[in-house]
Amino acid sequence: MLKDQFGRIHDYLRISLTDRCNYKCLYCLPQPEHLDDSIKGDCNSHGSDQMSTSEIISLAKIFICEGVKKIRITGGEPLVRKDASMIIRELGMTGTKLVLTTNGSRIHHFMDVFKEAGINSINVSLDTLNRDLFHKLTQRDDFIQVKNNIQLLLDHNFHVKINMVVMNGYNENELADFVEWTKEEPVHVRFIEFMPFPGNKWQPDRVIHAGEMLEIIARTHSEIIKLEDGVHDTTKKFQIKNYNGTFSIITTMSEPFCGGCNRLRLTSDGKMRNCLFSKTETDLLSALRSGEDVSLLIRSCLAGKHFQLGGNSGVSWGLEETSSHRRSMMGIGG
Ligand code: SAM
Repeated sequence: MLKDQFGRIHDYLRISLTDRCNYKCLYCLPQPEHLDDSIKGDCNSHGSDQMSTSEIISLAKIFICEGVKKIRITGGEPLVRKDASMIIRELGMTGTKLVLTTNGSRIHHFMDVFKEAGINSINVSLDTLNRDLFHKLTQRDDFIQVKNNIQLLLDHNFHVKINMVVMNGYNENELADFVEWTKEEPVHVRFIEFMPFPGNKWQPDRVIHAGEMLEIIARTHSEIIKLEDGVHDTTKKFQIKNYNGTFSIITTMSEPFCGGCNRLRLTSDGKMRNCLFSKTETDLLSALRSGEDVSLLIRSCLAGKHFQLGGNSGVSWGLEETSSHRRSMMGIGG
């Protein structure tokens, strides 16, 4: 069992299949001067510094032996990796609960793979319901494809969560529209407070905090019901009375939810991070390649986990120069 010094059991691993993405989201892709060397190439080229299919499976199995019960496949955009189908199928065979986060652009190519791998819950990122703004935010005119793919998931009874990063001046005026989407469809919209990462144009006045989001939603929806949150939940969950779906808020900025954290991360180049905002990482891929004891490294990485926000503090912690492994969200695996 993977327990940290605060008694938190860690049984949830997020594996990044790639640090590349086919979208250039304004709030995610670092500006060129901040781009990690590893993410300057195109989507389909993977150097030897990246985990191969078999290395991903080997490391996943070691984590599972150590007590991991749930794996989230993420990236970059996981579905742009050439061997994504094979990796998803093989992870499915490990018997762990498998889920995925995607920008939604390539879902239609993977429906059979998801089913074969036993995936029935998928998070899709969608920051706007306006086609022009979608283009502006992602640099791709894919709104219709993504919306159709979300419908495809719903038609096939997947549990669908929508991740919307709320940014003042861009999409805060769409909060009510997203909530209205939950009236007929069983979608679970998650409003995410805009977080700072190196080079992502974060500014304090671009953040809309949870309280403000709720105020905006309450202007059009009076019957907001607070739902119960699970101990490991990263969200505060709500529902409008008699609506089919739910909405929730990820309050990393206004009210970090680290107390119940059970998450570990593995970057696409095989580095373990004990927190999204961790200042250090542990090179599991090199250890695997040289035959070292990976389990031992996993345990010692977890032993160094801080209680909150990777040991960072202050409003712009994600931008701190002191961080020795300053990666973008794409480089870590969101
Ligand atoms: N490509 C996939 C996708 O689009 O969902 C997976 C990777 S993406 C980095 C994972 C999640 O991180 C997305 O939901 C995205 O909206 C979120 N994200 C990226 N940068 C963020 C930021 N600065 N603040 C809050 N959320 C962010």
